Amino acid sequence: MLGIVKAIERLLEEILATKAIIKGTVYKQKKKCGNPNCKCARGKLHTANILSFSEEGRTRLIPLTKYSTFEFSKIRAQVQSYQQFRKARSEIVYYFKLIMAEINKLEKSLKMEVPTKKGEDSGTEKRKRED
Ligand SMILES: [Zn+2]
Repeated sequence: MLGIVKAIERLLEEILATKAIIKGTVYKQKKKCGNPNCKCARGKLHTANILSFSEEGRTRLIPLTKYSTFEFSKIRAQVQSYQQFRKARSEIVYYFKLIMAEINKLEKSLKMEVPTKKGEDSGTEKRKRED
């Protein structure tokens, strides 16, 4: 269980070290431009990096070509930070479930029966004697 706590600690450190994040994804879009003489008409499609994100419940797509290289790198890094943040968050949820399962198992193994007869020992004593 303490190993799990260490793992959670590491993930928390990662989460606390996170700076700016952009909630979205960056993907490459491939398309034809429409010019019949262009290389894309012969199958060499144009690629563009697209930022997909949600705004007021709607998915918005922004071509990253509108940004400078510096801005693009910054946005992509912030999107990556967001992905890492979410990954660490879900791993923490997973580890907490593991810890709860361990605690529940421990509780079950520690649980004693209430002695009902006068002079009867509780479970531990009883078990020890039976051994
Ligand atoms: Zn083209």
